[in-house]
Amino acid sequence: MTSPALHDLGVAELARRLQTREVSAVEAATHFLGRIQAAPQYGAFVALNEEATLAEARAADERIAAGQARPLDGVPIAHKDIFVTKNFPSTAGSKMLAGYQSPFDATVVTRLAEAGAVTLGKLNCDEFAMGSANENSAVAPLGFAAPAPVRNPWDPERVPGGSSGGSAAAVAARLAPAVTGTDTGGSIRQPASFCGITGIKPTYGRASRYGMIAFASSLDQAGPMARSAEDCALLLSAICGPDPDRDSTSLDVPAEDFSRGLNDSIDGLRIGIPAEFFGEGLAPDVRAAVDAALKEYEKLGAKLVPISLPRTELSIPVYYIIAPAEASSNLSRFDGVKFGHRAKDYADLTDMYKKTRAEGFGDEVKRRIMIGAYVLSHGYYDAYYLQAQKIRRMIADDFQQAFKSCDVIAGPVAPTVAWKLGAKSADPVANYLADIFTLPGSLAGLPGMSLPAGFGEGGMPVGLQLIGNYFGETRLLNAAHRFQQATDFHLRRPELG
Ligand code: GLN
Repeated sequence: MTSPALHDLGVAELARRLQTREVSAVEAATHFLGRIQAAPQYGAFVALNEEATLAEARAADERIAAGQARPLDGVPIAHKDIFVTKNFPSTAGSKMLAGYQSPFDATVVTRLAEAGAVTLGKLNCDEFAMGSANENSAVAPLGFAAPAPVRNPWDPERVPGGSSGGSAAAVAARLAPAVTGTDTGGSIRQPASFCGITGIKPTYGRASRYGMIAFASSLDQAGPMARSAEDCALLLSAICGPDPDRDSTSLDVPAEDFSRGLNDSIDGLRIGIPAEFFGEGLAPDVRAAVDAALKEYEKLGAKLVPISLPRTELSIPVYYIIAPAEASSNLSRFDGVKFGHRAKDYADLTDMYKKTRAEGFGDEVKRRIMIGAYVLSHGYYDAYYLQAQKIRRMIADDFQQAFKSCDVIAGPVAPTVAWKLGAKSADPVANYLADIFTLPGSLAGLPGMSLPAGFGEGGMPVGLQLIGNYFGETRLLNAAHRFQQATDFHLRRPELG
């Protein structure tokens, strides 16, 4: 029997081989760098720095040789280009930050490096993480002369999901065993679903936002994306933990070993099924895959409990008021003075601001800034922003009501499988509507994950979403792991072109 190629191994198995020195960190890094360079067609990567990667790999090999191995020593990972990094440019998918070099690393990047992970490079994403299809990046991916959408490795004519589309495509194409993503309204879960991988967004405040280029600060949260729940648990354990000096919303909750409950029994687990997640808008192929996954859970001893999340539909207008409001404020820092792009010709300071922002931001970002400024403006604040905040609270309360009768909530991640490139790019509202099932959990700040649950139209992957109560990550990962022990959807791989 030939042993599986390095790029087919998950994080857990790769870490084991690295620790036993069956494979070196330098070999692993070289192998993945070679694959990334040989397969630029998905547009997943935007920056590499071979020298920095190999230096990290050599340091990992030295620690392993000295008997001082760290948990992820030598495991290659890549970061969504929304995290700032010292060794790679940081662009957030925007022309505004073309060529920007950060003087420091994001806390998530630092924590993974401290756990021994070796950084392969930076991953394409929607501009400032705004999007559901990764068609909004203004950065040319490696191997491309101009900006190009990320492509889904399962079908290169389809989107990978967004905004962490480069992250999901990289794992699906086996260009990295694991990556980071960020989720403001679904950007870890939805691309994970579209690309047939596993991803988890922790409880808001568990992962530090320091060094994550801000989109909507009350929603933004980092998390890992990998093949399995077991792999996600390893990364999440490294990522989470308080960061009081650098992120004031980081929670004072100690880091945990999220792997510890993976194998716990789920006999008697009460899974809440929100009626509103299974209505008219849900495509029949997605529904069939999700229903089959829920049957599998019943076989594993879980009980399905009907629940209601009555304000699910309202989560779309609420999110698309609050997120742009926060974005309009966060993006005011891009004024051509402190960092990033500055227009070449201008008459005076005001003209410089105007031209810089007109040139630097893409259409979707401008749309959000305008909506955000409008809903925050005098005379409209009460009617839109305040109203949205009130409903946000009710959505969070609805979840607490639901969790009285269940331990976790399950449903689809998105109403359809990944759509064709360009199918929704002219219609922003069509993109927004596709976020309906991920937004409620985001607005409530709850942990959520997506795990491969089957296949739908065109042979495209379908994800199952699991939402937990605050600090319920261990339970979610446990429920996902037990499912992955009983099924092989997470082991299926696309044929790469
Ligand atoms: N699709 C949503 C948006 O465009 C969510 C993005 C995200 O989670 N970063 O805002």
